Amino acid sequence: MSMNATISRLKQGGGVIDRYREFLPVSDSTPIVSLGEGNTPLVYLAKLSARVGRGCEVFVKNEGVNPTGSFKDRGMTVAVSKALERKARALICASTGNTSASAAAYAARAGMPCAVILPAGKIASGKLLQAFVHGAKIIAIDGNFDDALRIVRELGERDDFVIVNSINPDRIAGQKTAAFEIVDLLNEAPDFHLLPLGNAGNMTAYWAGYREYRGRERSTKLPAMIGFQAVGAAPIYHNKVVEKPETIASAIRIGNPANWKQATAAISESIGAVDVVSDEEILDAQIWLAQNEGVFVEPASAASIAGLFKCCDSKSAAYSFQEIPDASRIVCTVTGHGLKDPDVILRRVEELKPVTAKIDNVRRAIGS
Ligand SMILES: *Cc1c(COP(=O)(O)O)cnc(C)c1O
Repeated sequence: MSMNATISRLKQGGGVIDRYREFLPVSDSTPIVSLGEGNTPLVYLAKLSARVGRGCEVFVKNEGVNPTGSFKDRGMTVAVSKALERKARALICASTGNTSASAAAYAARAGMPCAVILPAGKIASGKLLQAFVHGAKIIAIDGNFDDALRIVRELGERDDFVIVNSINPDRIAGQKTAAFEIVDLLNEAPDFHLLPLGNAGNMTAYWAGYREYRGRERSTKLPAMIGFQAVGAAPIYHNKVVEKPETIASAIRIGNPANWKQATAAISESIGAVDVVSDEEILDAQIWLAQNEGVFVEPASAASIAGLFKCCDSKSAAYSFQEIPDASRIVCTVTGHGLKDPDVILRRVEELKPVTAKIDNVRRAIGS
């Protein structure tokens, strides 16, 4: 590519709209708001592959390395570009954290005001800090995420705000690109795709992306979609709204998912499943992934890894990998970066006691 062409792509942000324009609802006159999102690593995990056995291959799609540290950026580039094209006055979202971090950053880049409605005291510190540093108007409500989304929907109808939650189809369109990237790399769709389920926008988007690519004959098959909710926030699993969802994994602390029907359709059309994992399993999987594969993710993201362990080990799993076909390919999306939500781990770090600054004491402390 010539230098001029490279610079012109960089001026477009070099992100998912640049690479997948023909699949997205943009035209030549859409102003592109991008931070170079997408093109995230698909990391092969040898130890997890061995755990599954039968020559299966496990990969994580590491969405934590997006510009604001979560997959939300893929959808936000499209949603904010379209809002700018429509000359919207302001953006608004309800959020458990990452949507607000992403909306705030893309709004700053677009030069648009952005209001984020959050459950007071329930947002991971890194995410709140992101919304703040990018200059969003932060409104903490005395309620949960589902209350926040209800208010945002009303404000979107009555006032001149563009809603950038996953009820906005432009968000889903942008998020499809994660499925495209996986198929482009593997030259085929995987056999299984595991991911955490909150509002289920991501499940909806991946399924749309896989189907669209198969329609264009970029792949010959579709994966079974397997979603994981936390035990205390499992409305899709129980097929019942959860009034007071509770889990350590704040990004999936959702009692009434916005994309419930679409997720149920994706699961049944793909012959997949929905299952639950406990907070303890989530935190164990988070540490396991960090200490065995070098990938640090936030708790909600670790639900897909906890889910994989459950599929391998538990008789009560909604989907069992005991009889998985040989050489199956499994992709787990890890949705957000671990540094966003450090509090649980920080508590352990703070237990560290200083050692006298003498070589023998340090050697003893190392244990060698
Ligand atoms: C938003 C989010 C989820 C949940 O995604 P949905 O599309 O709402 O199902 C999971 N993990 C992280 C880190 C998120 O930011």
